[in-house]
Formats: sequence, C-alpha cells, structure tokens
Amino acid sequence: MSCYFDINKKLESIAQEAEAKASESFARIDHTARINSEKVLKAFIDERVGDMHLKGTTGYGYGDDGRDKLDAVFAKVLGAEDALVRHNFVNGTHAISTALFGVLRPGDLMLSLTGKPYDTLNDVIFAEKGGSLAEFGIKYDQIDLLPDGRVNFGQIRERARNCKVAYIQRSRGYSLRPSITVSEIGEMIDAVKSVNPTAIIMVDNCYGELVERIEPCDVGADLIIGSLIKNLGGGIAPTGGYIAGRKDLIELCSYRLTTVGTGKEVGCSLDMNRSLFMGLFYAPETVKNAVKTATFASAFFEKLGFEAFPHYGEYRTDIITAIKLGSRDALIAFCEGIQSGSPVDSFVTPEPWDMPGYDSQVIMAAGAFTMGASIELSADAPLREPFAVWLQGGLTYDTGRTGVILAAQRLLDKGIISI
Ligand SMILES: *Cc1c(COP(=O)(O)O)cnc(C)c1O
Repeated sequence: MSCYFDINKKLESIAQEAEAKASESFARIDHTARINSEKVLKAFIDERVGDMHLKGTTGYGYGDDGRDKLDAVFAKVLGAEDALVRHNFVNGTHAISTALFGVLRPGDLMLSLTGKPYDTLNDVIFAEKGGSLAEFGIKYDQIDLLPDGRVNFGQIRERARNCKVAYIQRSRGYSLRPSITVSEIGEMIDAVKSVNPTAIIMVDNCYGELVERIEPCDVGADLIIGSLIKNLGGGIAPTGGYIAGRKDLIELCSYRLTTVGTGKEVGCSLDMNRSLFMGLFYAPETVKNAVKTATFASAFFEKLGFEAFPHYGEYRTDIITAIKLGSRDALIAFCEGIQSGSPVDSFVTPEPWDMPGYDSQVIMAAGAFTMGASIELSADAPLREPFAVWLQGGLTYDTGRTGVILAAQRLLDKGIISI
C-alpha cells in the first residue's frame, strides 16, 4: 500500500504480484550488479585512483592526470586497451560520429550489420551536404535483421568481405526487435572476421553498459561507444560520452575530437573529473535499478494485458522495455503518468510534438536532474503503429516502480484499462 500516492488498491496488489513474479529475474540482476560493482571497484584500485585525480585543469589541459586516469579506469572496466572519456562529447551521437570520422576514409565502406542505425545518425551518414560521411565519399551499405529481428549471419559472411567498418547497434532503438546480447555480438564478430580479418568492428553500446557481465570488447569489438547521460554516467555525470577499444583506433578518434597530432594530450577537464569518476563508481548500482524498473514494468504491464518487449523473464542486454499500448490515447496517458512521478518537473504535462528526424509526432516524459538523461526514469513514444512506448531508466528502483505504477493509474483514471 502506498502511504503517499493515490493508487487503486487492486492496482497496487497487481503490482505486488508482478514483483513476486519477477523475483527470479531480480535475483539475477542483483548478482550481475554485484559482479560489476567488484569489477569497477577493482579497476579503481588497480589503476591507483588518488585524491589528486579528482581535481581538474583549465586551459590546454596538458598533463591532466585525472583525465588520463579516467580513460584508464574506463578502459579496464570495458575490457578495452584504451578509452577516450570526455565531457566535450555533447551526446552519444557526437561520440559515434567522432568514431566514424576517426577511422573511415574516402572510398571506404561502412557496413551496418543491424539494419539502419539509430535515427540521430541519419545526417551524419547520409546528408548530401554539410560534411557527412556520404559527402566525403564514404560508402554505406546495410544488412537488415531477419523479419523476426534476429541477425542474418548468412548475409554477414557473404557481404562483409570488403568493408572497412562493420557496425553493430546493440540496443533496439525505436523498434521492437530484440536487443543484441554480448555473446551474439561475439558470434557476429567471428562471422565478419572469418571473411575479413582486418575489418574494424564498431559497436553502438548505448544503453547496454553493465547490464551483462561482459562488454563487447571482451568478445573482440574494436571500438565501442556510448553516452555518459546513460548507463556509465551512473546518473551523476552531467554530460559527456566515451569511445573505448583498440589503442591505435582510439588515437585516430582523439585526432578527430581535437586535432591531428595532439589527440588525447589536450583538453582540460575543468571540474568534471570528480563527477565522472563518481558516476562510473555508481553505474553498476544505477544500472541495476534501471534494469529492475524495466523488468518490473514488463511484468506489471503483462499482467494488465499488454505485450512487453522483452518479456519480464527474458535475459536482458540493455535497460529498455517497450510496451505495446495499442492507441494514441494510451501512449499519452502513460507518459503523463511517468512525468507525474518524476522528482523534477512533475507538474509539467507532456504533449506530442513534431520532433526533427521523426516521421510522426513523438511524446516524451522526462523529469530528470540532468536534462534529457535517460538513465533517469523516462519514456518516449512515437504516435504511430505499433503504438508502443519505450521506457528506460530509474535512479532508484523504488521511485522507478512508483513512476511505472502511476503510469498505469493514469490509464485507469482515463478509462483506458479496467481491472
Ligand atoms: C541514445 C542512443 C544513441 C545516441 O543518442 P544521443 O541522444 O545523441 O546520446 C545512439 N544509439 C542508441 C541505440 C541510443 O540509445
């Protein structure tokens, strides 16, 4: 029973049943978080992080030991040789773009193995002008996922022979396809390398970090990329992104972020080191809370008669749950409910709007301490078939759970569900 929110009693008891059903999944999630917390702690200790590394620099940032130490700790956690962790990455798209421009040259082929990349990369890859990959003469091709959302290994072996970059998106993005587990990523890498040993395997790792016990570099990925206002920022990093992987490739990416020749040696950390270290330290715990919130949402909404992706008992490789709510009104009510349960901007009513890059209106709920941070409880829904909402985040499980219950309460209040 909630002491502070007006929740229908029957809805509350359905929530408790859902939680009981998810208890096995919760135990697995707790165990993964324990192992990943040890991994992160051990990386701090092995790299001898000291008080001096928490302090920042200004100006050119030469000899910024904190910044260099942060790169080393991230690399260790991610199973990589080196990393480029910077508050200067304005978002995940910027980090991915930097990695693509870092390693691709005119005439090279980028081959996506997981269909069309995330929407925000459209202009980076395809735009006719503005300095896109296309304008620089970099070719692009893609292998679509099979109709059931699985990877097309046959096509990979046939068509990966002459690509410079083989590109994999781990998380589902705005689709209902299954996200790709790290072990499947390993099989894809083996398939590419069997026909093209020098291909650079690049993984968009957004939303996936620390959900499993291994990361794509542990199974042979050459470069992985993500945002710090998602998993690895732990809900504490106020901005930033990372690229991790092979040392020679990280150097090329750093030349693209700063200048050819100076690379990682410059770029002051201002006062960011402490938050970025602390965010990484909290990340296994924060990711655990987000994955539990997502798992609870699947179990709860399945009990309410909806289809959830993934199913509550399924093995997870990212923090997302998509729920097929079936109508425009249901999507709006769900997002209103999530917003009303946010610690910041709870009094705001989200409304559908025409978002650049989308072919339909989108509604979003986000009441976060960090603007747009989707490691915090948030939901987005394009108002079109299949009328599904994508839910992610939750800094603490208990508040994430409350937010999800308030979303269902809103559906009940509007007469969209009956129990
Ligand atoms: C978040 C995300 C990105 C990057 O998006 P930004 O909003 O620019 O950080 C790229 N790919 C996937 C799958 C993502 O989830």
